[in-house]
Amino acid sequence: FPTERIRNFSIIAHVDHGKSTLADRLLELTGTIKRGHGQPQYLDKLQVERERGITVKAQTATMFHKHHFHGADNNGANEEPSFLLNLIDTPGHVDFSYEVSRSLAACQGALLVVDAAQGVQAQTVANFYLAFESNLAIIPVINKIDQPTADPDRVKAQLKSMFDLDASDALLTSAKTGQGLEHVLPAVIERIPPPPGNSDSPLRMLLLDSYYDEYKGVICHVAVVDGKLRKGDKISSAATGQAYDILDVGIMHPELTSTGVLHTGQVGYVVSGMRSTKEARIGDTLHHSKSIVLPLSGFKPAKHMVFSGLYPADGSDFEALNHAIERLTCNDASVSVARESSTALGLGFRCGFLGLLHMDVFHQRLEQEHGAHVISTIPTVPYIYEYSDGSKVEVQNPATLVSNSKKQVTACWEPTVLATIIIPSEYVGAVITLCSERRGQQLEYSFMDSQRAFMKYRLPLREIVVDFYNELKSITSGYATFDYEDSEYQQSDMVKLDILLNGQPVDAMATIVHNLKAQRIGRELVEKLKKYIDRQMFEITIQAVIGTKVVARETISAMRKNVLAKCYGGDVSRKKKLLEKQKEGKKRMKRVGSIDIPQEAFHELLKSS
Ligand code: GDP
Ligand code: MG
Repeated sequence: FPTERIRNFSIIAHVDHGKSTLADRLLELTGTIKRGHGQPQYLDKLQVERERGITVKAQTATMFHKHHFHGADNNGANEEPSFLLNLIDTPGHVDFSYEVSRSLAACQGALLVVDAAQGVQAQTVANFYLAFESNLAIIPVINKIDQPTADPDRVKAQLKSMFDLDASDALLTSAKTGQGLEHVLPAVIERIPPPPGNSDSPLRMLLLDSYYDEYKGVICHVAVVDGKLRKGDKISSAATGQAYDILDVGIMHPELTSTGVLHTGQVGYVVSGMRSTKEARIGDTLHHSKSIVLPLSGFKPAKHMVFSGLYPADGSDFEALNHAIERLTCNDASVSVARESSTALGLGFRCGFLGLLHMDVFHQRLEQEHGAHVISTIPTVPYIYEYSDGSKVEVQNPATLVSNSKKQVTACWEPTVLATIIIPSEYVGAVITLCSERRGQQLEYSFMDSQRAFMKYRLPLREIVVDFYNELKSITSGYATFDYEDSEYQQSDMVKLDILLNGQPVDAMATIVHNLKAQRIGRELVEKLKKYIDRQMFEITIQAVIGTKVVARETISAMRKNVLAKCYGGDVSRKKKLLEKQKEGKKRMKRVGSIDIPQEAFHELLKSS
């Protein structure tokens, strides 16, 4: 295929605006998948994706389409030229903006889908800027025009005022009824430039993604930027210098379809005998082993913004969990995993995620696809602490933050995000209140049109990790949309809040909180625990502690079991023995701190800030 007849494009949108449905329609239109066959949202392959209606992993599909240029003289040839179109689906959710920018690296254009009734929303803004910064040609698509509340003109005005986009040539579609869809592919072909690479230059390809297949091993998605790749070629990684033989090469059509060759500008897959997806570095440049090339500029590596400890729910099943995590991370290289141990929970893992939804999805997949049962600890963000000896550490697990007379904390920095919030104007006051409670700093506040306000805030990541989005939704009757991007670290007064049961710290319950909120959060945690821990044979004190200062305290009184009841008053020495035994039992349990903490207690702690 000549490069001039290749188009690589993406569909970007706010969640639910119809991206996956539109992708399905395009696959049907081109005969790539059969109409009405298979499940809707063809590219959303994971069970969690179908259940939650979100796209987690970007998928690619190659389509073929015959195109007639208007006014073009086909020189009497009745054959219209065939185009090769690579559609790269992207996730819509904020947590996966890393996946979005990765997908966009292989594209020259994007369809910006906006719901005709909802208008521009927070992720529309975020995705627009990702595409804009990558210099992509942007085609506005106003979708769902079949809805009674559709107002395409209002959306056009928003596109103009928000993005300075000339929306006079926006496409109007309904992915549901099929209206307007016939204009989509012609617009892709005519308004998006072909890939810019050089077919005579030595091979350079960008590694976009990888996953593990039971039968074929590691499969890499690649974009061939320059040159061409054939089956049997020997290639090397610019990052590691490691060489591989190309065992198979082809396109995603959308099933893997072997073609034996990939030309300049094409997107496809390669199988190269890599043993683990860890060898496939996303953003790496692959080239022929015999040639020396300048590596392509990769993309920003995924940053882990939320960490949590994962432990087997029933203590004994560490190996099963280990196996499940290994299998799952084979296909989700964006999760980081390190072993850790907790005195409270035993052996487990510290995992790093791109965001909260990413963490949730990972849990769900562990349980659904791999049958694992896990307890996870309160999610935390990575803090940077400076000690009196001048050393600096990144703290991913609050339990590991130590401060004693020799080593005192002198400063702390926490990660922040730049948040975009779009709301109907009447909710402005409530949102401002919420954001200031969450230690936010307002950066921008304007009106998109007479009904909608646009706000930009700097917020500590910690403050949005737990429950911010739900809270925002509830105070705005579900109307707010929200997106964020990582920003810089800021200095903050963050302290470690320990939970002590009978004086013993429970490492898995430690959190890092802002000093001014420590008291309130400590109180909430202690009250929650009191509800979830059953009375036991001895009294239990629950304390929330900062350093040596107790900020909250509750007690659960002992269960009174009359051990003498059965003894009919008789034998005194037997009475004494029983009393001894009970006392010893109490002592032993207190000493090892073996208090039964039900699993729900950990789950409930997750939900509080
Ligand atoms: P995505 O989150 O952007 O991928 O959105 P989906 O493609 O999953 O669509 C979200 C919902 O909107 C689904 O229930 C679709 O059936 C529905 N939908 C998609 N396109 C249209 C459309 O043109 N008109 C109407 N009325 N509904 C649509
Ligand atoms: Mg979708």
